[in-house]
Amino acid sequence: MATNQTFTMIKPDAVEAGHTGAIIKLIEEAGFRIVAMKKTQLTTERAGQFYAVHSERPFYNGLRTYMSSGAIIPMILEKENAVADFRKLIGATNPAQAEEGTIRKLFAKSLEANAIHGSDSDENAAIEGSFFFAGTEQY
Ligand code: GDP
Ligand code: MG
Repeated sequence: MATNQTFTMIKPDAVEAGHTGAIIKLIEEAGFRIVAMKKTQLTTERAGQFYAVHSERPFYNGLRTYMSSGAIIPMILEKENAVADFRKLIGATNPAQAEEGTIRKLFAKSLEANAIHGSDSDENAAIEGSFFFAGTEQY
């Protein structure tokens, strides 16, 4: 299978709780190479842009507020079959349904504050990566 990329961000609850290092360790141990990484914070408006696909959902306003409530760690990651393998590593959206050993099972606080994002397709991985990083920030 071809090497490809996915996009992730460690969300405000997990950064605030001091889980950044533990989460990055699991990501690297699972065979992902970090292509780009930084610490930043979204405005409510930019959080809304990132999650525009959910703009009609009842949780959209809460999600914008939560995702702009503190620092995040966005990253571009590379591995064979990156998108699907990373979704498996983070586990189900609702941590109550996430498998044992997944990042969300280990670190998520709730369905909303679920510790980490993972792109759902190669196309979205490229769009989301360029939402945060210029080409010159990727190695
Ligand atoms: P993901 O791809 O697994 O992150 O899940 P989605 O794309 O469906 O949702 C995006 C994010 O919105 C999730 O990671 C959660 O932070 C949040 N979210 C999703 N569904 C719900 C929900 O039913 N209620 C609340 N409060 N937040 C949700
Ligand atoms: Mg999603």
